[in-house]
Amino acid sequence: MANSVKAIRGMNDILPDKSHLWIHFEQIVHQWLAAYGYRNIRTPIVEQTDLFVRSIGEVTDIVEKEMYTFNDHLNNDSLTLRPEGTASCVRAAIEHNLLYAGPQRLYYAGPMFRHERPQKGRYRQFHQVGVEALGYVGPDIDAELIVMCSRLWELLGISGLRLEISTLGDSESRARHRARLVKYFELHRDKLDEDSLRRLHTNPLRILDSKNPRMQEVIDSAPKLIDDLDEESCIHFESLQHILREQGVIFDINLRLVRGLDYYNRTVFEWVTDKLGAQGTVCAGGRYDGLVEQIGGKSAPACGFAMGIERLLTLMQENGNEILQPVPDIYIVHQGKQAMDYAWKCAELLRCEGLSVILHCGEGGFKSQMKKADATGARYALIIGDDEVNAQEVTLKPLREPTEQASVKLATVVELVGK
Ligand code: ATP
Ligand code: MG
Repeated sequence: MANSVKAIRGMNDILPDKSHLWIHFEQIVHQWLAAYGYRNIRTPIVEQTDLFVRSIGEVTDIVEKEMYTFNDHLNNDSLTLRPEGTASCVRAAIEHNLLYAGPQRLYYAGPMFRHERPQKGRYRQFHQVGVEALGYVGPDIDAELIVMCSRLWELLGISGLRLEISTLGDSESRARHRARLVKYFELHRDKLDEDSLRRLHTNPLRILDSKNPRMQEVIDSAPKLIDDLDEESCIHFESLQHILREQGVIFDINLRLVRGLDYYNRTVFEWVTDKLGAQGTVCAGGRYDGLVEQIGGKSAPACGFAMGIERLLTLMQENGNEILQPVPDIYIVHQGKQAMDYAWKCAELLRCEGLSVILHCGEGGFKSQMKKADATGARYALIIGDDEVNAQEVTLKPLREPTEQASVKLATVVELVGK
């Protein structure tokens, strides 16, 4: 075969033998969000590069090396495939004045793009469901977002997720903490690796997130954010914990939680599992009170999270949830011109009754049509020949149980199959 064109590395096809899992997941998610009063928003997959640089932060992994950025030479614009959804959601809310009508509970779902090294649970095109509550100061809404998540895990049949929460304080306490960190790491320059040295003055908080085992000691002894926290943030964090306890949500406080995006303040959280190896975070989020103003809107508090659909689907399967592929109710087998016309009519009538019906298309004798019927997994074959047309009846043959076939009226088919 000549060189065939392949999909791009790290970007996966979702084939019919798996897509039903996605549909099952999406249906649960839409219902779950409706139950909490969140409304769907759909934004373009491509945005001005500047939107992500300004929101995610210039010296983050995403902006430094993971974005699919290209020049739209027709307009001479720098565009980027969205690496996450919050920035677009906030941009759209500002552009269309959504907050003018009051706070907004919003959500979106779809593909995101990051140029990372592909491995299990980490892809270059991956999918997220993101939830954003714009215009709420919290901590009640922070708690709502977290409580919602734990409800979703139940609906999806996922157990064993651990919740980690933390607070980053307000921007002043973050600045104080940052200054102390820089000073501390300056004193221990010799213990830093190359990546961390580079980040020392641009993004020292990210050093704390380093996985380099040689640096764990110097990281463990670094100044703690908790000592720099402002009082209001402490109260906010306490109230959040109170609601979570009242709701019976179990959590660990991890004051070392560092998110890979710059826009967070105060509450941050992650849902993690140890069933997915290094890709253990399935959902992450927090408060981003400065972002709306940063993107050019009138200052408004906000909080949100995003979850990785691929990782959640893997977990659902690991938890032993068997989601069966849907099968058609009926496969219609027909022979002869007259029978074909009748078969078409029957097919449409049965579909009107809510049944899933495959009408045999193409050539083929009775035997080969029956084989095809069987291969689709259909529960019944409906056989139509001249005799059936003359009697205005059909022959219904159960394919998955030993019951005998029978000649019946179409209305009886609806009754028998619909059960
Ligand atoms: P990680 O630490 O795994 O790189 P992150 O902090 O970069 O995650 P976020 O930007 O917070 O991730 O995205 C929220 C969720 O989206 C993650 O918790 C994860 O479940 C999922 N996710 C992020 N990047 C990828 C990817 N490349 N492939 C698959 N899922 C991803
Ligand atoms: Mg990442």
